[in-house]
Amino acid sequence: MTNDDIGGHEDIRDAVRALCGEFPGEYWRAKDRDRAYPDEFVKALTEAGFLAALIPESYGGSGLGLDAAAAIMEEIQASGANGASCHAQMYIMNTLLRYGSEAQKADYLPKIASGELRLQAFGVSEPTSGTDTLSLRTVAVRDGDRYIVNGQKIWTSRAEQSDLMLLLARTTPRDEVASKTEGLSIFLVDMREAVGSGMTIKPIRTMMNHSTTEVFFDDLSIPASALIGEEGKGFRYILSGMNAERILIAAECIGDAKWFIERATAYAKERQVFGRPIGQNQGVQFPIARCYAQMRAAELMVHHAARVYDEGGNPGEQANMAKLLASEASWAAADMCVQTHGGFGFAEEYDIERKFREARLYTVAPISTNLILSYLAEHVLKLPRSY
Ligand SMILES: Cc1cc2nc3c(=O)[nH]c(=O)nc-3n(C[C@H](O)[C@H](O)[C@H](O)COP(=O)(O)OP(=O)(O)OC[C@H]3O[C@@H](n4cnc5c(N)ncnc54)[C@H](O)[C@@H]3O)c2cc1C
Repeated sequence: MTNDDIGGHEDIRDAVRALCGEFPGEYWRAKDRDRAYPDEFVKALTEAGFLAALIPESYGGSGLGLDAAAAIMEEIQASGANGASCHAQMYIMNTLLRYGSEAQKADYLPKIASGELRLQAFGVSEPTSGTDTLSLRTVAVRDGDRYIVNGQKIWTSRAEQSDLMLLLARTTPRDEVASKTEGLSIFLVDMREAVGSGMTIKPIRTMMNHSTTEVFFDDLSIPASALIGEEGKGFRYILSGMNAERILIAAECIGDAKWFIERATAYAKERQVFGRPIGQNQGVQFPIARCYAQMRAAELMVHHAARVYDEGGNPGEQANMAKLLASEASWAAADMCVQTHGGFGFAEEYDIERKFREARLYTVAPISTNLILSYLAEHVLKLPRSY
């Protein structure tokens, strides 16, 4: 694959590649088979400082921007690893960095940077509201210097491995606010105190190794100091954080697409059928070439979105387009890679079927393709609203 520096940050990429090289396919296959959390990998990334890339140097991190974080996530995926085990620490961070108080940042960021605490859980989705986040039902009611939380989240990934959760809950009933985007608040919940005292976590087994869960809140009491920013403004804060999330997930998809394209290209050169390499047939070459072009175009949008974010902007349009294009590019590359490998694409030892299952998620989560198209149609192109 050519390296024309679309993404930049070559030093960081080399270092991530070297670290990931210590966690080969056998490691990920075993974790996948047992649905086990890749603790050793996450620890190694933390110790090397990669998961603290976005934390300012004054709090013990490296003070890098989102574009550098995107390069880290992309390289993790391009090495064949499963970055879903730790990506939230990167994208949740932005909400705390942009809207957290000085006290919250001083309290938590150095401990997150050192690895003493993990910030890996993001509690937004609920079973009944689905994509319609504004209808969520989990409530946090102020009671003196505490909030009492009741409700349920679903798909809260890495809740069992995290010490902290960023939680979105309703603090003012929907019929008492002027705009439906008001009345939601963000909390940084210390799960070490919460589990067993009003918070219950139940794992959900999925088609890939993703450590995802359901989380139940039953009169969970949290300190008022857990509130991030102003009460009732949480939806605005979370939207900005979601742009960072979409850009980083898109970068992961680019890494996946590169992995699939590289594997397919290598196999097409070496696999001999009818006395010649299968890659000599244009019927095999063209799908690989098309995926390469699709991935490169998406990659440009990912870095454009990241750079706008790093300049202090709120690139909703670019972040959504990056996520749409990159998730489609990685899924197209996944399908092409299986096809290029024929029957061997289905054999566990090639890692392709595992990466194929992992890559499938990203046209659905953290936001589905339809909802991105709806955002572009209604908010960017100003077409009539459908909901
Ligand atoms: C493995 C996994 C991990 C996850 N991790 C997290 C996490 O850590 N934290 C978290 O908060 N959430 C997480 N999620 C949730 C994820 O963000 C949601 O699954 C995703 O946003 C889609 O929401 P939904 O599943 O409720 O689908 P629904 O909203 O029920 O939608 C179902 C389908 O209908 C389509 N649809 C719905 N409404 C419309 C419309 N108006 N027009 C057109 N199409 C529409 C959608 O595009 C989708 O294809 C995770 C999900 C999975 C599967």
